[in-house]
Amino acid sequence: MNVSLQQLEQELRDAEAELDQVNRQLEEKPDFGLGAGNTGGFTWEMALARRERIEQRIDELQEAIARYTSGDYGVCQSCGARIDPERLEIIPTATECMDCARKVA
Ligand SMILES: [Zn+2]
Repeated sequence: MNVSLQQLEQELRDAEAELDQVNRQLEEKPDFGLGAGNTGGFTWEMALARRERIEQRIDELQEAIARYTSGDYGVCQSCGARIDPERLEIIPTATECMDCARKVA
């Protein structure tokens, strides 16, 4: 089974909805001057880290959608080989085949 464009778009919408949610959370910036025991600051920093991850994911998904539209989706950017469909099912935004991804890591 291949990853469909609809699937990528759905994941992008989900990520955007999540980003909205985190952004609302971040609007209530806690007072960091309160010192120790300020759990609000901790939650806020967690949300900040989460937002970074979501933003990165949105970038990756947008890129994947762009590649899908141009017909480059599922092709390794390093060696030009087809990326294993099973790999794409697990990581729909993968830009490299298993072999090249392993070389980088
Ligand atoms: Zn490759």
